[in-house]
Amino acid sequence: MISLESNVDKIIVMANIFVWIIGLFIIYIFYIQQNRYNKKEKEYICKLEELAHYDSLTSLPNRTMFFNYLDKAIEMASRDNKKFVVMFLDLDNFKLINDTHGHPIGDMLLVKIANRVNNLKREYDIFSRIGGDEFLLLLYEENISNIATFAQRVLDVFNYPFELENKQIHISSSMGISFYPKDGNSSKELFQNSDVAMNKAKALGKNNFQFFKQELNDNIKRQLHMGELLRDALTNHEFVLHYQPKIDVKTNETIGLEALIRWERPDFGLVMPSEFIWVAEENGFIKELGSWVIEKVARQIKKWRAKGYKDVLVSINVSAKQFNQKSFLDFIETSCTKKGVGSCIELELTESLLMHDVDKMQEKLMSLKELGIKLSIDDFGTGYSSLSYLKRFPVQTIKIDKSFIDDIVTDSNDLAISESIIALANAMSMDVVAEGVETKDQLDILTKIGCKVVQGYYFSKPLSAQEVEKFLVCDIAKTKTI
Ligand code: C2E
Ligand code: CA
Ligand code: CA
Repeated sequence: MISLESNVDKIIVMANIFVWIIGLFIIYIFYIQQNRYNKKEKEYICKLEELAHYDSLTSLPNRTMFFNYLDKAIEMASRDNKKFVVMFLDLDNFKLINDTHGHPIGDMLLVKIANRVNNLKREYDIFSRIGGDEFLLLLYEENISNIATFAQRVLDVFNYPFELENKQIHISSSMGISFYPKDGNSSKELFQNSDVAMNKAKALGKNNFQFFKQELNDNIKRQLHMGELLRDALTNHEFVLHYQPKIDVKTNETIGLEALIRWERPDFGLVMPSEFIWVAEENGFIKELGSWVIEKVARQIKKWRAKGYKDVLVSINVSAKQFNQKSFLDFIETSCTKKGVGSCIELELTESLLMHDVDKMQEKLMSLKELGIKLSIDDFGTGYSSLSYLKRFPVQTIKIDKSFIDDIVTDSNDLAISESIIALANAMSMDVVAEGVETKDQLDILTKIGCKVVQGYYFSKPLSAQEVEKFLVCDIAKTKTI
């Protein structure tokens, strides 16, 4: 009996031990799993944190993180009565690098730039990539000359080319600087004003830095206002075209006219294009305005025809934004070729407009030629034409820029440049027009060096459509039948 009881006790004890062991084992497995899960969760959270706060390409703090730092910097500086600066760095013509070398090279370049600039800053300053080719720096520095020295050092890191896949890549940057608290009390204001200053640096020819000034903001406001006024001016028919004759120096005959826009602003008088074309270019309104010019010229040619004047070639200035529209060729076809005036239209294009994506450009220019349109290169010598490209374009005329004509009588360099442009045009069977001829001496020299057509105040200022009629020739055949 005793042995039976003790056996049952033994079994119970064994069973208990077994249950404990299983229990402990389950707890152990659960613990391990939980630990693993926690570790994974932590890694995952870290990754998310990194993605949320760091730029994946350059590993620099990203936009979100930069603005967090900036908010904190404002909080501390306002409490401690301190100053600091925000620097906006934007690469110059980065799109061109991507277009010519491809995006992988563009990405590698961004990393190299990030490293070079990052090495310049002190440990506690923040350098961040906020997207694309835009970087921001938060610099805890109050001394203006130290800030300028630092900005110059940043520009200088671009003096040496970046070597990528055996290619030497040259690039520069433009920077804008805003001060806390002078230029803004909030991160938004400081950022916007550094952006305004950076755009000023671009407008001044790139590869420089600018401090924010309140006048810059005022200018932008004025520009916005002017943009609105221009739209109203078009609706209210306040734009007019004047025409400046181009004269054959041998015969003194008018061989063409250049259409030049003016704004007859009520209570202001005549506003010249130099005051508003750039605003229209900047805000895109030039597309509408440019279309108006082309349609107006087409109508004017028909009016002159109806009055019995012989056809005359009318040149129209075309801006890059207008020319680069997809619909430009269709527009020319409908407004000029189909209206029967295509053969009387010449488009004046600048060198910088032409020197982009040369294959596509050649195709577009050929299509224009097929539409009966003539082409000339305006302000020649001031841009960066590649002569080998020039040869591929169906361009009939080169206009020597006024800046070479101004001092042609006294400056041997200007004379030499004008002579070589004429020689170049002759070699390529192109015509040459010298613009801005004001004096008899200028005319004599130009005639001597073989320039056959001139335009300028010496013969005539730009005139209204009615006034310029005295330069047009009556078509006898037509006048007889009228
Ligand atoms: P541009 O194409 O170089 O036009 C020549 C400018 O020189 C005109 O100024 C003309 O009046 C001026 N000019 C001509 N001969 C002389 C001269 O002997 N002496 C002096 N001092 N100036 C002379 P404007 O009319 O003020 O036009 C300035 C610029 O505005 C033009 O330069 C052209 O780039 C732009 N522009 C004018 N009309 C249009 C247009 O309809 N569309 C576009 N996109 N731009 C236009
Ligand atoms: Ca022109
Ligand atoms: Ca010009």
